[in-house]
Amino acid sequence: MNEKISLIAQRILEGDKNIVFTGAGISTESGIPDYRSKGGIWDKFRPVYFDEFMSSKNARIEYWRRKAELYHDLVQAKPNPAHMSLVKFYEMGLLEAVITQNIDGLHQEFGLPDEKVIELHGNTRRVRCMSCGKTISIHEAQKRIEAGDLAPECECGGYMKSDTISFGQAMPADEVEKAIDLSRKCDFFLVVGSTLLVHPAALMPSYAKQSGAFLAIVNLSQTPYDERCDVLIRGKAGEVLQEIVNTIRDLL
Ligand code: NAD
Repeated sequence: MNEKISLIAQRILEGDKNIVFTGAGISTESGIPDYRSKGGIWDKFRPVYFDEFMSSKNARIEYWRRKAELYHDLVQAKPNPAHMSLVKFYEMGLLEAVITQNIDGLHQEFGLPDEKVIELHGNTRRVRCMSCGKTISIHEAQKRIEAGDLAPECECGGYMKSDTISFGQAMPADEVEKAIDLSRKCDFFLVVGSTLLVHPAALMPSYAKQSGAFLAIVNLSQTPYDERCDVLIRGKAGEVLQEIVNTIRDLL
């Protein structure tokens, strides 16, 4: 383990363009469950598909019931050492960008500037009208739900939906393009807490590897890239990233 940590630390120091790719696993230590682990969100809920959301009031009520249930995890989330380590990389000038599948907005909440975070699946802290595009905060939507408005609508009559990508909904083209470009141009690519099963997000490590980048993975369970990466650490994101930061400090 120590050798692997040292190798990653060394590569981060040498890297001109270091990319970190994060998934739900970086936020579990902040109290937000992931999807695919035992006890994760898929054990509790089936997803509401985008066409169901747009065509059925019952589906919208169900969608918002689940969002309301997860709201409390979101507002109570505490910074964990994995998020804070990425802030340290940034402060040391060692981070080109974070590409994230996460919708929790925690990278920015905990200190990374907006422009350093590419959100491939949107941000649940924003709620958007599906007709006119107006946005409100998740807190305002939550207040309305708690007051009995079970599937909030906009003044224009449009359906209000979390500004995140549901199954069957188009990906944000600009973010995907930016993420591909960053992945192709980086020299170091670190995956933290992702099953790497959701496409097209999961193609980013491939783009990086094909362009000759060093690929490292820190994840508790198996990924399809385990055989192809340069270093694999089967460990908890918080502990491992904290150790990487400490090792970088020792090397400086
Ligand atoms: P996933 O749920 O498919 O996989 C999470 C991975 O993280 C698993 O392999 C698990 O073993 C690992 N993991 C869990 N805790 C860990 C820890 N402390 N340290 C290291 N590894 C840990 O998540 P995914 O690959 O990000 O894909 C799921 C989709 O779900 C994404 O599209 C994302 O938008 C969405 N999602 C987001 C959040 C969030 O924003 N926090 C939470 C759940 C799901």
